[in-house]
Amino acid sequence: QALAAIQHSDPQINAFTHVAAELAVDAARRVDAKRLAGEALGPLAGIPVAVKDVLCTADMPTTCSSRMLKGFQPPYDATVIHKLREADAVLIGKTNMDEFAMGASTETSAFGVTRNPWDTDRTPGGSSGGAAACVAAGNVPLSLGSDTGGSIRQPAAFCGVTGLKPTYGRVSRYGLVAFASSLDQVGPIAWSVDDVALLLESIAGFEPRDSTSLNQGVPNYSEILQTTDLRGLKIGILRESSENKAVDHAILAAVHHAGDVFRSCGAELVEVNLPHSEYWVPTYYVIAPCEASSNLSRYEGAHYGHRTESIDSNSEQGPLVSAYCRSREEGFGAEVKRRIMVGMYALSEGYADKYYNQALKVRRLIKGDFDAAFTQCDLLLGPVTPSSAFRIGEKVDDPIQMYLCDLFTVGANLAGLPAISLPGGFDEHGLPIGIQLQAPVLEESRLLFAAGAFQ
Ligand code: GLN
Repeated sequence: QALAAIQHSDPQINAFTHVAAELAVDAARRVDAKRLAGEALGPLAGIPVAVKDVLCTADMPTTCSSRMLKGFQPPYDATVIHKLREADAVLIGKTNMDEFAMGASTETSAFGVTRNPWDTDRTPGGSSGGAAACVAAGNVPLSLGSDTGGSIRQPAAFCGVTGLKPTYGRVSRYGLVAFASSLDQVGPIAWSVDDVALLLESIAGFEPRDSTSLNQGVPNYSEILQTTDLRGLKIGILRESSENKAVDHAILAAVHHAGDVFRSCGAELVEVNLPHSEYWVPTYYVIAPCEASSNLSRYEGAHYGHRTESIDSNSEQGPLVSAYCRSREEGFGAEVKRRIMVGMYALSEGYADKYYNQALKVRRLIKGDFDAAFTQCDLLLGPVTPSSAFRIGEKVDDPIQMYLCDLFTVGANLAGLPAISLPGGFDEHGLPIGIQLQAPVLEESRLLFAAGAFQ
């Protein structure tokens, strides 16, 4: 059914970079054989799952939607992929994304833009645009995305589905192609909070091969969703976002409405503020490019990645440097190059103190704001995005406008917190709007508990 749905919608939506039809049918048959033999089945038995093309898969290409990795097939599975297989899920294919997860619209993919199933003239958001669009289009019930600065939550919001960014370290990053290692997390996208909880349960947990993985047991997330009684829960509304002029009226109204729903479930609403929130985007856009410039230095056409065919052996720099430069020139798109240059600059001698080290200090202040806010409330409620899905082409030539899409999402990454984007209504164009809940570190249960009551 999933394969038929993809065949029907994907020529238009372009959510997939690779559909593994035969492998998926084989996997489904294996699960069925297990069932017939009376063997115990995993929690995702037979369920088709699509995964963002930033996760290493031993039996499918992994391109990060970049020419640099076109045709690359990793020799191993990412831990989350291994866990999906262990849970008897059926991996259906790899989903389109902004190149190396840098973007907010899936327009920087080297393999064409993904379209929003609600309005195909609009973007599905990004960078996990394909992962959100294929769930919204009804191709698969579950997908995995990655979130460095909002890349699960913003596309989930634009596509009217649910997406969760786990606590930093909750889910293993082993086999997740690195963008900004101190911010990256893998997380679930699905139709419902229940499905998100089930998928999170299957992928979370300690992993010795990821040195930042947290050695903590995984709660039974699906078990905590059975109530709409939120008495005793304090939900903080961010003063900054409710007064922000850059935010569409319909978004503010949706957040307000969500507050009413939570109140009707018995929660208490309090106003809180995060004094350094105006520095979230600038801080993120120093730290993320710095880490990216370092992580992406491995793609030089010799050990990894696209290798140019036009090596200039008479080049003044010598053939090796020439090959390196040309391979990177040909392999990377404009946004990736921009990030590498910004990152190299901010890390270079004489500038590192002014930019990178300064950004690290501000990051500490931002984390402190969240710590203080969570002494006054249990969860934070606010918008996911300043607007609903924008038109394809609208922001693609204006990086600053594109970066401002991340206004409300990058805080959770800088502080390492879990956050969820939930469908919160529609705007006047009939486009979905997301609302966001953020929780203290490792409080995914609290997040899902409140999200479950809301849905
Ligand atoms: N839009 C942000 C960026 O371009 C977030 C990306 C992400 O979370 N991977 O960096």
